[in-house]
Amino acid sequence: MILKATCQEVGKRCFRESWLTQYTPWLSYSPRLKGAFCIFCVLFPQPVQRGIQGAFITTPCTKYKDFNECARNHTSSAWHRGSQQDAEHFASTIRDPNKDIICQIDNSVKRTIEENRKKLYPIISTILFCGTNDLAIRGKDSTKGNVEQLYAYRIEGGDSILKNHFDTAAGNARYTSHRTQNDLINLSEQALREDIVKAANNAVGFSIIADETADILGTEQLSLGVRFVDTSSEKAMIREEFLGFSPLKGMDAATISDCIIQHCKTFGLLLNNLLGQGYDGCSIMAGKE
Ligand SMILES: [Zn+2]
Repeated sequence: MILKATCQEVGKRCFRESWLTQYTPWLSYSPRLKGAFCIFCVLFPQPVQRGIQGAFITTPCTKYKDFNECARNHTSSAWHRGSQQDAEHFASTIRDPNKDIICQIDNSVKRTIEENRKKLYPIISTILFCGTNDLAIRGKDSTKGNVEQLYAYRIEGGDSILKNHFDTAAGNARYTSHRTQNDLINLSEQALREDIVKAANNAVGFSIIADETADILGTEQLSLGVRFVDTSSEKAMIREEFLGFSPLKGMDAATISDCIIQHCKTFGLLLNNLLGQGYDGCSIMAGKE
């Protein structure tokens, strides 16, 4: 009815309703702008490299006298073909989200991360084995030593993922250099400490245990530990855990107590839950002298 009324008012050739069927699914009529548009080209506009986008795209097509020719020209245009492809891709993505290209890239990245994790697991596990059994990781050079022997032992025992990784990885992506080993040790230290701090913070309260000791270079190191009752499992148990070493700048009470407080904060311990302090019979350690 709207179309009819419009034509009578203008008194010239008018838009035929049958064109909507003939040029489905892209053709649409705008009563407000009194002309025909292409839904695909309006909703999925293409970049303009040459020429000017006109009828059906940025302006309504009102050449009803030559409408079929205009419509045919439009459907064969590069802009329309590009917009149609984008529209079809959009519709298929809505129907099946797994087809989305970003989703596919995302899945591919996830797969790579999963595969790399599987490769890293035996390497980290071997380094942790050395750590928990007091075994030196390296020998005289990076290709000899306990950790290398243990890698070979794992492969001999049937660790196909590690074997495949060593057989196929590029020289700079084997994750076996001493730098990578140090990175993995540091990351393991952080993860382990985070677990301990979380458990200590979840306890009713905890005590700090500190002592000082000289390292192999003669630098005084503060060793910091935490003691708490762990009630996370069915049977409550007392845990006494080592948190880390820190070099001491001085041996006076103020320096030591500052160091203790600073490290408790850095590690994330909630000092409001600190109920006790334990030192090795030394009054300086408690900040008294
Ligand atoms: Zn179009």
